[in-house]
Amino acid sequence: MIPILSVSNLSKAYNNIHALNGLSFECIKGEIVSVVGSSGSGKSTLLKLIAGLEIPDSGKIVLKDKTINDGSIFVQPEKRDCDIVFQDFSLFPNLTVDENIYFGKDARSNKSMVNELVSLANISDTLSRYPHQISGGQQQRVALVRALANNPSLLLMDEPLSHLDSALKENVRSELMSILKKLDMTVLIVTHDAEDALTISDKTVVLNQGNLEQIDAPRNIYKYPKSEYAARLFGKTNILPLNLIPGSKHFFTQKSSNNKMVSVRPHQLIIESDNNSSRPKIKGQVRNIFNYGHNYNVELQWEDLHFTAEIKDGSNLEIGDTVTFCIEID
Ligand code: ADP
Ligand code: MG
Repeated sequence: MIPILSVSNLSKAYNNIHALNGLSFECIKGEIVSVVGSSGSGKSTLLKLIAGLEIPDSGKIVLKDKTINDGSIFVQPEKRDCDIVFQDFSLFPNLTVDENIYFGKDARSNKSMVNELVSLANISDTLSRYPHQISGGQQQRVALVRALANNPSLLLMDEPLSHLDSALKENVRSELMSILKKLDMTVLIVTHDAEDALTISDKTVVLNQGNLEQIDAPRNIYKYPKSEYAARLFGKTNILPLNLIPGSKHFFTQKSSNNKMVSVRPHQLIIESDNNSSRPKIKGQVRNIFNYGHNYNVELQWEDLHFTAEIKDGSNLEIGDTVTFCIEID
């Protein structure tokens, strides 16, 4: 497995703010790596450091066997074998799609490859138009083709889907995926949306205030988060004390309480039908019931503990009912 990108001990501070704090990870050839974290966690800073748009305070970046940052070394952005797609696509408004795509010198020297990318991204019909004359999804693909036209070893993408409305987003996401996989492109993609990470990436780097919180396959982080922060980034969950689920191997120490806790997703709570079941149980009084059509979200409370269950049918539940759930863990 060949690492295309290798980041070691990378740090960057702005005044007193540690935007990145000793971050290390690798991207392997053909891997799509997502970077997730709440706003201000250092995601964009990381991309800017790799692209050469910011200078690190310390640490090393190696891109395809070439050291591009290391104390005394700083390779200029245009000399780095990577390209970046910005959040707002940053297309030149006064240039046509065609002129945007052929802006880079590498694109002009490789027209047949660019033609292939244009047809792969399905934007042949837009070439003579200006950016404001095409849809958001098309703009996204033009920005992607413009970056790929330079034939980079690494593609950097900063929240490429966040400007698209949700109806469009799913389509664009799957088109994006198929293009990148077809090209066997190595990609580092920043997103604040864990659903993007889960659906697009092979590996996820979770950042929390500039620190590496967890790195793993996104489905593993969803199922076995190593902190409350990582658990909550990946969607609705219940942070339950380990003593309720004594068999669980996947627990973490909650920073606020110092207690051992387990992340249990709402769908892992199943209404108990078999009294003799040996599975761990939790009892709660119904506080609210929300019908989402295909399922129900039931908010419950037992003493100080608040939790949510997602069940198929909650039509016979009423507020105030006491319900016992089995906790399904693996
Ligand atoms: P993210 O992309 O995860 O939202 P950023 O990398 O943009 O986070 O920012 C990380 C932290 O660094 C934030 O606290 C942000 O305010 C700070 N920061 C980023 N860029 C600058 C800058 N140019 N000057 C001062 N502070 C900055
Ligand atoms: Mg950002």
